Amino acid sequence: MKFNTKTIHGGQHNTDPAYGSVMPPIYQTSTYAQSTPGGHKGFEYSRSGNPTRKALEDALASLENGQFGLAFGSGLAAIDAVLKLFKPGDEIISTNDLYGGSYRLFTKIFEDFGLKFHFVSMQDTSAIEAAINEKTKMIWVETPTNPMMNIIDIEAVAQVATKHKILLAVDNTFATPYLQQPLDLGADLVMHSVTKYLGGHSDLVMGGLIVKDKELADKLYFIQNASGAVCGPQDSFLALRGIKTLHVRMQRHCENGKAVAQFLKEHPKVDEVYWPGFEEHPNHEIAKKQMKDFGGMVSFTTKKDSLEGAVEVVEKLKVFTLAESLGGVESLAGHPASMTHASIPKEERQKTGIKDSLIRLSVGIEDADDLLADLEQALA
Ligand SMILES: *Cc1c(COP(=O)(O)O)cnc(C)c1O
Repeated sequence: MKFNTKTIHGGQHNTDPAYGSVMPPIYQTSTYAQSTPGGHKGFEYSRSGNPTRKALEDALASLENGQFGLAFGSGLAAIDAVLKLFKPGDEIISTNDLYGGSYRLFTKIFEDFGLKFHFVSMQDTSAIEAAINEKTKMIWVETPTNPMMNIIDIEAVAQVATKHKILLAVDNTFATPYLQQPLDLGADLVMHSVTKYLGGHSDLVMGGLIVKDKELADKLYFIQNASGAVCGPQDSFLALRGIKTLHVRMQRHCENGKAVAQFLKEHPKVDEVYWPGFEEHPNHEIAKKQMKDFGGMVSFTTKKDSLEGAVEVVEKLKVFTLAESLGGVESLAGHPASMTHASIPKEERQKTGIKDSLIRLSVGIEDADDLLADLEQALA
């Protein structure tokens, strides 16, 4: 089945036994009647499993070319479950330029439980090799990175991980499986903030994990059930509905992202534009190799290099909404230094290039002319 068919049918069985409903019913129930102790129809209690959630989990697995999908109450709950695979003393190597909430979970929660994190620039795999020792258990990759739009070569990192028998996990939230499929490039685990492009309508908070290996899936399922950070049936239904249009939405996100990036690049008040589709982007060749297109995320700095200058621009935007998050049908603008990345200390932020004047755009699927006109008036 091709990807554009998978978004609609992948992993979805369309076998509602009661009335043949085309969409999976929302099984709004915590528990299931048993005919005799243990005599159930595959579901016992909704933390352990729920048919609507299961339909979503199977769809997630199909989209990423995995075997097993698990859905959680948020992207961070999904990452939290992954980190519970490890024990005090274990070490994890992570992208240095990563989602602020992941950084906070790593350093403010799991370091206290004895895990050790190394944050390295993954543009060059020798930096990863240098951080590996006998305690290293996982490499955590986010690509494109947030908000600097660097691209990490997943296949190259997978070779390092395989050589050292280390788990490779990829946060695929920004790219979505429409643009890149990390399991096919050698990753062991894919994580999603379903909140973003997969949900696609800014109406839910959810996380997902997808793996191929049964043993890893069993361990993660044990954690999902034992720790209990599951999502509810209503949200599972909404995510399934969102996924059905992922391919058409992503196509327009990419077209509009390109139009916005090119407009900003020509604009006299704009300094740098970060978008992997530019030929001069330092990782353009890798992006072309591992992604189908370049996505709808664009970051830029203004020539007036100050926090006030950037804040003035984002406050003037009218079609773009000033808000955290990304990946919805509507365009959003964010100011990483004071919003999504405020939990990363200023020195750490600046090391990865997150200037106070940096603005991050999640380009939606409105008419591109309206988006460009909005940016024009805000920059003026
Ligand atoms: C939003 C986001 C997360 C966290 O997901 P939540 O659903 O907000 O918990 C993790 N990684 C990336 C890249 C994100 O954008």
